[in-house]
Amino acid sequence: MRDLTNRRSPGFCLGTFVSNTTLSKPTPNSIALSEAFLGFASAMSHMYVMLLSCCVLVLLVPGPCFTAPTVTLEEESTPTPEPHVDLKLATDYLQQYYNLKNDPLGRIKRSGPSFTSKVKDMQIFFGLNVTGTLDSDTLEVMRSPRCGVPDVEEYSHIQGMRWNKNVITYSIGRYTRDLPRSTVDSLIESAFSVWARASSLTFVRSNTHNADIMVEFVTYAHGDLFPFDGPRGTLAHAFGPGSGVGGDTHFDDSEHWTAGEAGFNLFVVAAHEFGHALGLKHSRNPESLMYPNYKAFNPANLLSSEDVANIKALYSPVRGHLNNVLTNSWLFGSLFPRLMQDKCAADLTFDAVSTLGDATFFFRERYLWIKHNQRDDIKEGPISNFMPKIETSIDAAFWVPRRSTAYLIHESIFWTVKGSRVKGKARKLSHFGFPVWVQEVDAAVHIPKTRRTLFFAHDIYWSYSENRKVMDFGYPKYISEGFPGLNSTINAAIHKDGFIYFFVGPQVYKYDYTQKHVVGVEKANSWLGC
Ligand code: ZN
Ligand code: ZN
Repeated sequence: MRDLTNRRSPGFCLGTFVSNTTLSKPTPNSIALSEAFLGFASAMSHMYVMLLSCCVLVLLVPGPCFTAPTVTLEEESTPTPEPHVDLKLATDYLQQYYNLKNDPLGRIKRSGPSFTSKVKDMQIFFGLNVTGTLDSDTLEVMRSPRCGVPDVEEYSHIQGMRWNKNVITYSIGRYTRDLPRSTVDSLIESAFSVWARASSLTFVRSNTHNADIMVEFVTYAHGDLFPFDGPRGTLAHAFGPGSGVGGDTHFDDSEHWTAGEAGFNLFVVAAHEFGHALGLKHSRNPESLMYPNYKAFNPANLLSSEDVANIKALYSPVRGHLNNVLTNSWLFGSLFPRLMQDKCAADLTFDAVSTLGDATFFFRERYLWIKHNQRDDIKEGPISNFMPKIETSIDAAFWVPRRSTAYLIHESIFWTVKGSRVKGKARKLSHFGFPVWVQEVDAAVHIPKTRRTLFFAHDIYWSYSENRKVMDFGYPKYISEGFPGLNSTINAAIHKDGFIYFFVGPQVYKYDYTQKHVVGVEKANSWLGC
């Protein structure tokens, strides 16, 4: 189950802190640019953006913003070949993509040092003659439809943010009316698979509003700081990896989106934008998918060798050699020396926690820590190292001691684990009697005393009778009613020593379910000795 603590949820307006996005990364190869960019980054980092779904934008703007300045031409000794419209175009372009700062008086000097140097930066990026003037080649590139993410980045080296997990969820919010929904779904899926094939990443479609990457078709001002500009110009933009808006990808719905060659090919633009959503910057190589301008790429061969090298550098495939370290028995296996994930990270959360035999299992993404109840050693590694049948993350898990059986749930399926073996094939979650609309749960816990298993999803929970093998009457109920004091989504739950322990974000609440109140709280990873 995903950590929802810092994410949007349907029906709620959460303020999201915009930081560490692709759009606000300082460029390391120019002091002047860095300073300018830091101004921007600091402005960004002071802005709380209400989410798209809320349709309200709250701005606390202490620094420069992206509104175009009043264009006041300075009188010059030589006549200007470019009409005002070109200067306006160039100014907007350089402000958006090369971080040209507003003149304090709102004027624009075409011949000013800042303007000229930004023109040169742009000309260098696109391999044009570096004249510092708005010649016809330069203006032609400036008029080309392109990605909305700035170019003032260190483009030739991998840097900055990445997702700290290999399974990334996405969800399509608002659709375009240019294409049937099923076509949009399949083009978006194909665009993700371009990157999945070149890396260790897996993309999983989710129908919730709190997926890692929210895909939206929007127009003009749409709730972030980067309004779209109508037809042509900016086609789309994406935020780099991170919580909140991190990873979110927006397409300008003023464009004509197609699955073919007319208009703008959604598959090609989406694949480019998802590169940003994974942490990649613009490339100046026209062969690269991460080149900022729209090009009719060969859909069968989108990635250049540079794109492949860059995504591999960020997300190197690790599954191959780790699978060489297979073991079927964690109870007698040796300690795994690999520290693939930092169990003591301050904000560590778990997807699922369960007793299994005489150990406690902690699941996070595709990773597993096993803490023996009577010993201090902790084994760890990819889940598939211990349970070769399971190649996915685990959303929820529970242990029924009477049967010495654990149940591991991933979305709408679950596995049964007995002893140290996964028994048979995965079965459908609907086996427990959920209504059809329940396709995943957040957490599950079995209470031996009542012989009930509780399943938690969002803000509701069900009670399943293990004796009668049916859901108890009167469920689902609100978690806040059944468990006063718990007001957020639950990541994981486990029953121990007569208490239920609820893992919520990086914390764990000790809950007395007979007295119905929280009796203690500690760091989740204190259970792993941190
Ligand atoms: Zn881009
Ligand atoms: Zn946007």
